[in-house]
Amino acid sequence: MFTKRVQRIMMLAVALLAWVFVMAQDVMPAHVRQVQYMDHVQIPAHLNPGLAVDLDNPASYLYPEWSNEYVHKFDDVVIPDTVVISMKGYCMPTDSTRITDKYGYRPRRGRAHLGLDIKVKTGDTIRAAFDGKVRISRYERRGYGHYLVIRHPNGLETVYGHLSKKLVGENDIVHAGDPIALGGNTGRSTGSHLHFETRILGNAVNPALMFDFPNQRAVTDYYVYQKNTREIYYKVRSGDTLSGIAIKNETSVANICRLNGISRNAVIRVGQTLRVN
Ligand SMILES: [Zn+2]
Repeated sequence: MFTKRVQRIMMLAVALLAWVFVMAQDVMPAHVRQVQYMDHVQIPAHLNPGLAVDLDNPASYLYPEWSNEYVHKFDDVVIPDTVVISMKGYCMPTDSTRITDKYGYRPRRGRAHLGLDIKVKTGDTIRAAFDGKVRISRYERRGYGHYLVIRHPNGLETVYGHLSKKLVGENDIVHAGDPIALGGNTGRSTGSHLHFETRILGNAVNPALMFDFPNQRAVTDYYVYQKNTREIYYKVRSGDTLSGIAIKNETSVANICRLNGISRNAVIRVGQTLRVN
């Protein structure tokens, strides 16, 4: 008799758990995936989930001002030695799983591809990667085409390029998973795709270190950005020499040569991009 009762209670518990699970799926839109905190990670004070998040001035602890002017120019900003980016509450910007061009610097071409290209069709929905506020909504004929820059409370800025249509405007507040644009082929682009960038205080970071598009999930709970190992690029101006560039960027000619795969007496041309850290 007793075991039958236990059995019944257990069945009831299982049914209840299943119901809770189904309800939870209902409450949370399928495209918004929550991540669990890892126990061994120390949560920085500003990432404390209990802390109120200010979407009017996102990540004001990191960015000194709110401006719609530049995409990635933060001249007077002091970059902390370490910035911890929480992936909590993220959403994949597209459900496409196909990467068509990787992030990276191409020394031979003196060019940097500071984003990830993901195959999307013109008209495909592009979604906000996190809650945030639209900082830039603009058109650039020879570059990004129609593009958006969103600043998020976690300190990250995300850039979405080559869009066919923007669904949000500057200073709009968005939530993770909100449709913000339609994919397209505008600007310097051959074939419709999403050019997706992740930046911290204007510094590009490989989005693939945070967003796993092929598997449609976050790579990590926290991405740790370190100032001393960050990539720094320099655009060659007329009159520049390798040694002059090295001094200007507080590095050595040898280091610049190593990073760019060039020799000490390589000819550098105006407008060429060199990686200097
Ligand atoms: Zn691209």
